Amino acid sequence: MNAEVLTIGTELLLGQILDTNTLYLGKKLAEVGVNLYYKTTVGDNVARVREALTIACSRVDIVIITGGLGPTVDDITRQAVAEFTGRKLLVEEAVLSALEKRFLSRGIKMTDNNRQQAYLPEGASIIKNDNGTAPGFIVEYGKNILAAMPGVPMEMYPMMENGVIPYIAGKSGGENQVIKSRSLKVVGLGESLVDDRINDLFRESSNPTIGVYAHSNEVEIRLTAKAGDIKSAEKLIDGLEIKVRERVGDNIYGRDDETLEQKAGELLRKYAVTISAAESCTAGLFSNRLTNVPGSSEYFKGGLTAYSNGIKADVLGVDAGIIEKHGAVSGECALAMAAASRKLFGTDCAVSITGIAGPDGATAEKPVGLVYIALDMKGAEPLANKFVFPGAREGVRSRAAQTALWMLYGALKNRAGKTF
Ligand code: ATP
Ligand code: MG
Repeated sequence: MNAEVLTIGTELLLGQILDTNTLYLGKKLAEVGVNLYYKTTVGDNVARVREALTIACSRVDIVIITGGLGPTVDDITRQAVAEFTGRKLLVEEAVLSALEKRFLSRGIKMTDNNRQQAYLPEGASIIKNDNGTAPGFIVEYGKNILAAMPGVPMEMYPMMENGVIPYIAGKSGGENQVIKSRSLKVVGLGESLVDDRINDLFRESSNPTIGVYAHSNEVEIRLTAKAGDIKSAEKLIDGLEIKVRERVGDNIYGRDDETLEQKAGELLRKYAVTISAAESCTAGLFSNRLTNVPGSSEYFKGGLTAYSNGIKADVLGVDAGIIEKHGAVSGECALAMAAASRKLFGTDCAVSITGIAGPDGATAEKPVGLVYIALDMKGAEPLANKFVFPGAREGVRSRAAQTALWMLYGALKNRAGKTF
């Protein structure tokens, strides 16, 4: 079966909010083997929504609608679907009394416009909304299935999963093939290098397929398989993942929603290694990333933003002579910063970052994007690496923090099994 997503809301067209609902719906539909062929966005206008429904129903089987189910005047989805399908809007007593109860229990008077939400096209199946007031609904119209849900993502997601998907699965009689994707997260290798290493697999493999996508500071390799059920699809992906890992495995840190800070954090916890940071050009970005992970206080002790040379020397404790001799942006200074951070915070390990984020501050020898990252870890030789990151200020800073996490993760992984 084929589908179109119809997102409703003038704010989506005015660029005030980003349509993330379609991203989610595309993934969910793929998982049950429904091909998403089109996505359309329409403002809060009955005539235009009707027109969009006419077009959608002429070219796909299933139309998934989000938005415009609330109680305000601009919420016109119910009316548009009723007019389009030629059905009356009838009050659903059960929905109305649930609404009244909800307001009563919160001690708020229910205004009249809220009653609107209890009106549904005649004969519609109701999709329960456990996280808000407006229920969704499904109507069948000729060969088409129309499913409408609220626009608020946190309300819509469970309604899709518990209401719409089972309904579609029931209709398809299990004939659909499922589509399953897995992402492998790559860091420290550019998109073209990744492509170069796996492009023969890319050409050979049609199921699963391989896609390579560049993000701001990492690359994603997505393996997508079609099969009769999820298990078989995963088996196909497993086989291809092994081949991909033979080529770029050293640079893969995780899968799907895993983050580099999570993976580094897991190893810090596993080996009971405490960590601190001394950051110049990233001014806390690295520390911020590490502490994105709940429970990071177990290993992260603190960080110092040592932006000026004075603070590097007086507060962090870097020998002023090193800064004078080699400059603040140097491998020597990075190593001294990491060592000083370990001492200051009493940690097993410290990461330091010093560089030129730009657009000013470059010299003939030291271009914008030049960054030194040092890692000083108990029981190992301290290490400073030099990088020249491309991009503007924001990109340089974010790549520096990402690369620092990558160095940390790599060092911890290489020491697996050894005592710290
Ligand atoms: P409500 O009861 O809140 O009015 P609704 O079904 O009428 O729900 P809308 O008014 O269209 O939904 O949207 C409510 C909010 O949901 C929007 O302000 C926006 O934050 C979010 N939202 C709506 N559509 C989308 C979308 N396509 N992608 C992401 N968020 C969305
Ligand atoms: Mg609304």
